[in-house]
Amino acid sequence: MLQMIKMTGKKLPFTKKQIEKIAAHYPTPFHIYDEKGIRENARKFKKAFSMLPGFREYFAVKANPNPFLIKILKEEGFGADCSSYPELMLSESVGIVGENIMFSSNDTPADEFVKARQIGAIINLDDISHIGFLEKNAGMPEVISFRFNPGPARAGNAIIGDPKEAKYGFTRKQLFEGYKMCRQKGAKRFGLHTMVVSNELNPDSFIQTAKMLFEIAVEVKEKLGIKLEFVNLGGGLGIPYRPGEKAIDYGYLAAGIMKEYRKFIPPNGLQPLKVFTECGRIITGPYGFLVTKAIHIKHIYKDYVGTDASMANLMRPGMYKAYHHITVLGKEGRKNDRTYDVTGSLCENNDKFAIDRRLPEIEVGDVLAIHDTGAHGHSMGFNYNGKLRSAEILLREDGSVVQIRRAEAVDDYFATLDFNALKKFRAYNRGC
Ligand SMILES: *Cc1c(COP(=O)(O)O)cnc(C)c1O
Repeated sequence: MLQMIKMTGKKLPFTKKQIEKIAAHYPTPFHIYDEKGIRENARKFKKAFSMLPGFREYFAVKANPNPFLIKILKEEGFGADCSSYPELMLSESVGIVGENIMFSSNDTPADEFVKARQIGAIINLDDISHIGFLEKNAGMPEVISFRFNPGPARAGNAIIGDPKEAKYGFTRKQLFEGYKMCRQKGAKRFGLHTMVVSNELNPDSFIQTAKMLFEIAVEVKEKLGIKLEFVNLGGGLGIPYRPGEKAIDYGYLAAGIMKEYRKFIPPNGLQPLKVFTECGRIITGPYGFLVTKAIHIKHIYKDYVGTDASMANLMRPGMYKAYHHITVLGKEGRKNDRTYDVTGSLCENNDKFAIDRRLPEIEVGDVLAIHDTGAHGHSMGFNYNGKLRSAEILLREDGSVVQIRRAEAVDDYFATLDFNALKKFRAYNRGC
């Protein structure tokens, strides 16, 4: 019975009537986010992990770079994990600065290091060669962290791949050289980071990761006499996209990490080593929905539902063959006695939100809610094929709504083109 409660039934935080009212103001497609769900989850997350010394979650801005949501998460006590210049600016725009920012980038341009230094972010380097690059372009900060790639020591998972094939991070040997180099160059405080898996639902995988980092912290102290100030377990905590999948139990995970902490940290005099995370998906993912309308029903060799959205609004199914649950509003109680491919309008056959999905019969005009788009949804949008990104709407705790990003218009799409220059531009007429 308890197990049953933890299993996900895929529920919606809004009714069909509510969505119809919203859609009258803000035409479909749009992403809608559930503020109450986000806040409650953030509090649960923070509370469970607060048993870890100095715990802090740096929300991975790339998962949902909307400053309204980042502001909500700031209020809930989270910092921001950034990996680009605009992400640093977004954090700054809501007042997240200084060591409340973790700058975990890779293949980093010099100007981004300069910006990160300027606002006092904790810089988490991706490579040993970046030590000299950072020093030359932005100076060596007092606090420095390195991203560790365990290579053949860990297996990784489907989305992020095999660590030894992954472009990220330092080798184990390089970590030790790196800390020595940075100490010589004036760094005084040190951190260690890794991210081995993505969208992983097995909490034991993260407990293993924590143990791996604690072991390195012990070795760094023994070999170099450096007491690390923090370990950052990265992101990658998965969410139950499929009905019946089990959500990660925060209490179990935090207790598992704490158990390893007790084994390695106090006995080696490494207290008060702080523990950080930089999760995105698990923080906002389940609390976003792409709302789209069926505009065409097509019967050829298979049955297709054509929607007014596309991969430009949600790339995960096309890119990773990811499952996103679909609810047909107002037809929740009906039998799923049809099989459809639910498609977008890109001239790419992978522009499908679902393949061979069992659903109730769908008619033109039906509104579909595609679940779990609160992370890596709108943020992965693009303009290929002249497609425009949708609006983002926030459903507030009192049931009211705020548009937190308008939909793109054709003028946005053309904003980087100069049509006056085009008029003056003479294409060579080769007279064929
Ligand atoms: C993407 C990413 C995250 C967040 O990952 P989630 O799967 O959204 O939790 C955190 N840190 C780094 C370095 C990342 O690249």
